[in-house]
Amino acid sequence: MAIDFTFSPDVEQARVAVRDFLRDTVKARYDLLSENKDAKREDWSRLIKELRQEAREQGFWLPHMPSEVGGMGLGVTALAAVSAEAAKVPYGPYILNGHAPDEGNMHTLHHFATDYQRERYLQPLLDGEVRSCFSMTEPEVAGSDPTLIQTTAVEDGDEWVINGHKWFTSGARGATFAIVIARTDPDASVPQARNSAFIVDCDSPGFELVRDIETMSGSHNHCEILYRNVRVPKANLLGERGGGHKLGQVRLGPARLAHCMRWLGEIEMALEMLIDRAGKRFAHGSLLSEKQGIQWMMSDSAMELYASKLMVLHAAYKIENGMDFKQEVSMAKHHVANTLWRVCDRAMQVHGALGYSKDSPISGMLQQARWARLADGADEVHQMRIAEILMRAYQESGSINGAVGGLPL
Ligand SMILES: Cc1cc2nc3c(=O)[nH]c(=O)nc-3n(C[C@H](O)[C@H](O)[C@H](O)COP(=O)(O)OP(=O)(O)OC[C@H]3O[C@@H](n4cnc5c(N)ncnc54)[C@H](O)[C@@H]3O)c2cc1C
Repeated sequence: MAIDFTFSPDVEQARVAVRDFLRDTVKARYDLLSENKDAKREDWSRLIKELRQEAREQGFWLPHMPSEVGGMGLGVTALAAVSAEAAKVPYGPYILNGHAPDEGNMHTLHHFATDYQRERYLQPLLDGEVRSCFSMTEPEVAGSDPTLIQTTAVEDGDEWVINGHKWFTSGARGATFAIVIARTDPDASVPQARNSAFIVDCDSPGFELVRDIETMSGSHNHCEILYRNVRVPKANLLGERGGGHKLGQVRLGPARLAHCMRWLGEIEMALEMLIDRAGKRFAHGSLLSEKQGIQWMMSDSAMELYASKLMVLHAAYKIENGMDFKQEVSMAKHHVANTLWRVCDRAMQVHGALGYSKDSPISGMLQQARWARLADGADEVHQMRIAEILMRAYQESGSINGAVGGLPL
């Protein structure tokens, strides 16, 4: 059995080149502008625009997309490495045009879009000219169970008419279009076949952006939207009628792992900050780093990070090789989200009041880490699915091996 965690030379070269670009160009110029206290909003916009242009010219564009559409053509495992690097740099994923939710929407469109939809909606996203959003969750029903979706789409001549109420549509303010999941077939015998996906232009009459929801970490463009008699042409049905659930699953599997890839970079940053601070802070006769209680925080974090990396790599390997990846992605998503939360919390603890203050990035990192445990499948929903697959594997084969990674151990 071959266990080889090295990338092929061309992939390794791409990974190192992206890492160096992010560190030596993007981070360096970001830090330089941060030092300028007179820097205005326009200066930041200009810098980000220039860096995006540079990323594109140097071939560090669309790390998640195949080369035939202008992407880097990385395999999913190589993408894990690049995404983890990107997460360590402010705006890193956006500069490479690989940020959520556009990255998931590009995947979805690449997979399901008609020629017309590719040209009108996918191409401008690939070119970084527009942004998009994904509108599924509703305030009135549990987002964990998409079969409960109440937004409706009804046929009327050559159009569909959409009515409904969504919230937490990330990136909606400033987006050109939304991928909306709506109920088209309420009587379908299989609940999963009730919903369909539609591409909706955000300037359509009846598309009403109610507010940017204030979250525990402020406003981050997670929006509440009313769809009031929004008319879309039939050509904007994305995928097949009744295929909304399937589309969501195709989108969410790799998108969940893409989040994990970025979180790996954040966990590593938090642990490095913890170690750095512990090595400099002196109390009760020694440095914090010399105290066993603090060393346990370090070692627990290191073990959890190591397990996170292995889980992400293995799930990515399964996706890349066309194997069933559901169980591994669920386990990775749950484990990495919880590791992110715990490691950021420990880093805050070791920083004391500084960690709690806005003088340190840790307070912001911890706030962001909290949503990782409930979005893209809450912890308990992943645990429910993991247990279901475990029990099925045991019933069908008398062994759980296939449901715990299918490893030859
Ligand atoms: C920062 C952020 C960004 C988001 N971006 C988007 C986006 O772009 N587009 C979009 O459509 N949505 C988005 N969401 C919404 C997200 O997908 C939902 O919050 C998620 O699906 C959970 O749905 P809910 O909030 O309605 O919680 P509910 O479904 O009401 O669940 C609440 C809690 O109930 C428990 N629970 C649920 N089911 C079970 C079960 N079977 N067993 C045990 N416990 C259970 C869990 O603890 C869960 O956290 C975002 C959310 C956040 C916080």
